[in-house]
Amino acid sequence: MNSYAHLVSSLSDNEDVNVAVGLRPSGRIHLGNMATMGLAARLCHDVGPHIATARITVCDYDLPDRSDWDIRKNGFIRYFDSIPAPGNDSTSLLDHATEGIDDFLEGLSKHYGIKFTSQKLSDLQRLESYRQGLRNIFDTQGAMQNLYPKVPEGCVLAYPICGDCNTAGAHPNTPYRSGTLITSCTNPECSVEEFDMDIMDCSKDVAVHFFIDPLRDKCVEPRADVHVFGGDYGLGHNNTEIAKITKIIDLMTTAAPDISNPEILIGPIFYARDGTKMSKSKNNGLNLQKLKQHFGNDYVENIGIVIDHISEGGYKHVDYKIVDDIMFKNVY
Ligand SMILES: [Zn+2]
Repeated sequence: MNSYAHLVSSLSDNEDVNVAVGLRPSGRIHLGNMATMGLAARLCHDVGPHIATARITVCDYDLPDRSDWDIRKNGFIRYFDSIPAPGNDSTSLLDHATEGIDDFLEGLSKHYGIKFTSQKLSDLQRLESYRQGLRNIFDTQGAMQNLYPKVPEGCVLAYPICGDCNTAGAHPNTPYRSGTLITSCTNPECSVEEFDMDIMDCSKDVAVHFFIDPLRDKCVEPRADVHVFGGDYGLGHNNTEIAKITKIIDLMTTAAPDISNPEILIGPIFYARDGTKMSKSKNNGLNLQKLKQHFGNDYVENIGIVIDHISEGGYKHVDYKIVDDIMFKNVY
């Protein structure tokens, strides 16, 4: 039995199953991103649509790509909801990106007969349980430096957002003292200068990059039973994203030992025609818009065939030829 089949059978006896998946709404959504969401949907289908729900967190408070917003050049951070979409000043990058995603999720939901819910990180970070998890990390001596050795002692990797202009300072290390973040607004057009933020004050916003998966999964109801990550998370040897996530999960476990850890399922890595990894920043892969143009409304079914092939075989690396054979030549 491969690890996917093993996971399905271990979950099938549960009363309810929550499958978490995250998405950064920048760039074009490529086949790898779609397969990660698809794998979450397929897992819910296999475990049982009556007990399983796929829950996507749209990470709108993650760092934007340099092509969207150059943090060094501007000296401060705007997030996806306040960056205009390319060539369209009246639509935000967030709305532009999530328009296609909503349509795709609806398609997946129909194709696999499952429930899909979505939530934005900007809403999630206002929950008290999320903030408590965050505070646990910040208050644990040496935890921050263990995760990110470049963060100086007395500082944390968090970006409090200015309430007046909705931006964050570009500097990655924020001084932190007993529950309070100390920062300043670096947007030259804003009149706010230095400000403090109580981490437990949920009426103020804070962006935290990298932490949100284990925080959401272990602190926020409904807690995740499984988290599906994209193939990139498993790359490297010692300091992969998964290794960092596991460290954070361990910290959360110390704070709340009775809550079980989510199972981790890592999706495959897709390779483009030229043999390099498909990536949103390179835009070298099959993206959602292209697939929709090619297949029309049947595009989700066609992606579903690739997802089925991957989950049945437990594949971790998928060459372009396989995708080409399955989707365009109907070889399988
Ligand atoms: Zn400001």
